[in-house]
Formats: sequence, C-alpha cells, structure tokens
Amino acid sequence: MTKDIHAEVVVLGAGPGGYTAAFRASDLGLKTILIEKYPSLGGVCLNAGCIPSKALLHVSKVIAEIEELKEHNIVLGGTNPDSKSVRSWVNSIITKLSFGLKTMAKKRQIEIIEGYGSFVSTNLIEVNNNGKISRVTFDSAIIATGSHPSKLPNLPDDSRIMNSTDALFLKEIPKRMLVIGGGIIGLEMATIYASLGSKITIVEIMDSLISECDKDIVRPLIKRIKKIYENIHLKTKVVSVESKNNKLVVTFEGKNAPEKDQFDSILVAVGRSPNGNKINAANAGINVDMNGFIKVNDQQQTNISNIYAIGDVTSLPMLAHKATYEGKLAAEIIAGSKKNIKSRVIPSVAYTDPEIAWVGLTETEAKLKNIDYGKGVFPWAANGRSLALARDEGITKILFDKQSKKIIGAAIVGTNAGDLIAECVLAIEMNSNAKDIAQTIHPHPTLSETNAMAAEVFEGTITDLYIPKR
Ligand code: NAD
Repeated sequence: MTKDIHAEVVVLGAGPGGYTAAFRASDLGLKTILIEKYPSLGGVCLNAGCIPSKALLHVSKVIAEIEELKEHNIVLGGTNPDSKSVRSWVNSIITKLSFGLKTMAKKRQIEIIEGYGSFVSTNLIEVNNNGKISRVTFDSAIIATGSHPSKLPNLPDDSRIMNSTDALFLKEIPKRMLVIGGGIIGLEMATIYASLGSKITIVEIMDSLISECDKDIVRPLIKRIKKIYENIHLKTKVVSVESKNNKLVVTFEGKNAPEKDQFDSILVAVGRSPNGNKINAANAGINVDMNGFIKVNDQQQTNISNIYAIGDVTSLPMLAHKATYEGKLAAEIIAGSKKNIKSRVIPSVAYTDPEIAWVGLTETEAKLKNIDYGKGVFPWAANGRSLALARDEGITKILFDKQSKKIIGAAIVGTNAGDLIAECVLAIEMNSNAKDIAQTIHPHPTLSETNAMAAEVFEGTITDLYIPKR
C-alpha cells in the first residue's frame, strides 16, 4: 500500500548536512520530513567515516604515546589491543550518537521515512523501502545525498580489496597492507592499521602525500611514517592486481617502486564521488554535471527554484563541516532569511600522527597567484608543551598579506593541529591582522601559543626564538 504525505521541507539524506538542515528547518517552524535509506541516522560521517575513524585513531594515538614514552625508559603496559574489543567500543559510540539523533528528531516532531528516495517531479519524491512505497509531496526539498568511495577500474572482485567503509570494520588485521591513495582517508586508515600491527605500503600517483597541502607542512608526517611504514611509493601507479590464493599480487609503474609486490589486503582510497546521479534528478529537471555534482548558487539553490542541495553532492571539499554549514544556510533561506553571506574559508584536517590542518591560501597557491604575502613560521621544538608531550616535530605557519598584514592562510602540523587551526579560521573570518593574533594572550603552556608566536615571527617581535637582526 502506498502512503502519501506532505512536507513543507523534505530533506533527502540524513548525514551531518541532512539532519542539520532538517533540525534547523523544523526549529524555524517548518513541517519537515527526513528521508534516509539506512535505519541509522548520521550518514557516512557517523556510521562509516569521521566518528568511527576518530575513535580508532584515538586507540592508535594511545599506542603511539606508550611507545614514545619507552624511548625515555618509561614503560607502560602491553600495546596489543584485541580488535574485537576495539570494534565493539567503536560500535557503542555510533549507537549512542545515532540514538541521540533519533531522539532529537522525535522531539522536533520530524517524521523520518526509511527507504530510498528518488524524484518523480519538482514537488514529489517517491521513497522505496523494500517495495513499500511512500510518496512525499513537498514545497521545498534539500538534497543531501553525499558521496561514495571512488573505485579504480580493473581491480578483481576480492573481499581482501577494501574501501574505507570496509576497512573501518577491522574484519582482519592484515600482515602486509597496500594503501592506494596518499590522501586523507588513506593516511588515516594507514595510521590505524599500522598501530594494530599491519606493515603498510602507500602508493600515491602525485609527487607528495596530501598534495593539496604545502610540502613543508607534510614533511614531518612523511619523516615519521617513513620510519614506521614499509614503503611509500610516490609518483607511482598501480597497473594491475591479481588475486592469488593467499596473496594479492600488485604490479606498479613508478620510478622507485618495484615492478611487483604481494599483499594480504588492499585499501583503495582514491577519492570520493558525488551521489547526484542516483536520485532521478532529471525527473525534476535538476542539472547534474557529468561527475555527478549538483550545481548550486550561493544560497544552495539548484536550477529548480524550490530544490536546494548541500554538502558532498554539490562540490569539493567533501567535508562534514561544510555540509553542516550549508544545511543550516539552506534551511534558513527556505524559512525566509535573506542571508546570503557565505563563510570565507573551510578548514581541512588530516587526523594522522602528527595531525595536519590548513585553511585559506596555501603558500603554494599564494606563489602561483603571485600574491604579495609574508609568513610567520614557528617551530614547535621551541614550544615547552610540545616537548612535554614527547614530540617536537610540529610547525605552525601563518600567511599574511604583506601590505594590510591581514591573515590570508595558515597551516599546522603537529599534535592536535585540527583543534589549533580553529583559531586561524576565526582570525580569517574576523579579518584579523598579525598584531591581533600576536597580542592575544594565549594560555601557557599550550600548543595554542604557537599561533601567537607564528604571528610574532612575522611581526618581528618574537622573544621565544632568537632571530639575529639584519
Ligand atoms: P583524497 O582526494 O583526499 O585523496 C586521494 C589520493 O589518491 C590523492 O592524493 C590522489 O592523488 C591519489 N590517487 C588518485 N588516484 C590514484 C591512483 N590510481 N593511484 C594512486 N594514487 C591515486 O581522497 P580520500 O582520501 O579518498 O578522501 C575522500 C574525501 O573525503 C576527501 O574529500 C576528504 O577531504 C574527505 N575526508 C575527510 C576527512 C577529514 O576531514 N579528516 C577524512 C576522510 C575523508
């Protein structure tokens, strides 16, 4: 039997962007329906992405810290966690958060319809839950259908070849693991598997890991993982993979890579693709580009005036915090807000060890665009808190416009870089200059002082380093 319902706002997809849009729309007084194909809310981020990976990375971090203290003759307990216990702890976090979302949706009287939603027209979405059809008519719709892991062509169908979702299940801890793609996902998963005992090889087609970030910032990460991982093959391609009984035999093409090597498991982490082509968007006349992105204007509106789109399905970067921001914006516009100012910048973080975070212009981009910039670089070897954490490889780099001295970008490598970058994001949004950052009193002893000190280096007022007068 079909069920027919009407919503003022229907949100398609309950990831961080989708549920935030639905919650905001409901809080603004609109009758809201949220459609989700899985029984659990939270999307990839909560169920098979950000949250489980961060919980696993926490375990890796504790293991790494115990190992580091050994170098100073401080020996703490064993470091071989049972992967079953780790998995069940991670699952308990997912269950808790997902239950919290359902409770909040219920309190807001948002109806959740489970099933796969596709457009029938500009005012109708059909939801199929194993043959049970619901028809949702709507005044406005927000598409928040996210993205999926990109595949490499010509790989055999073999359960030992995983994408990021499979890898998070920790079904097995392979002896030798190949990670294809030296981007954020590949490097985060490599951190996790290495700490659980796998020997890691990374293969990356570009000449650097995390190639969108400046090389000087990525260098401390490369230096550290080179000691831990078996191999890092840059400028290298995987030509083929053969499934053998007990191994996956991989053929490489690259200057310094061997022609062949064998692995017990492979993780493919070569990017994600948007889900714009999977919702019959053409039935509503929505433009979807050849890659599957749905184009939107600065109000998140598609070419169809009552249909909006947010998050991964609209554009890069595919980051949960971008989706959340856009979800709120779309809900507010639908509710009648005239707001049209978008944030200036979106920060990126790789939760590797050490973490890498950047925002605004990178130095590479500044050079390419011939921007007249100056920079302040502060090495963490001169930061007491960093040394007290048994680590000294961090760097904080802030870029300033040379004339106005306004901050235009920042990049940090080191413990908790992902948290530290937030100050630079705010500084860019507030149009701050170097003095604003340098003269803000930062708590001592903290890693946050490195932000102020990088600004002091640019200002020439640093006292924590000795820089000879020119
Ligand atoms: P990515 O684009 O960050 O990295 C993919 C890497 O694979 C790139 O370095 C690319 O050069 C390389 N590559 C592509 N094809 C290759 C090939 N055939 N052989 C070898 N290397 C190849 O993508 P990702 O790491 O898969 O992440 C996907 C998305 O998810 C990104 O947008 C990322 O920002 C997002 N994400 C964010 C976080 C976070 O915020 N911490 C975590 C996970 C994922």
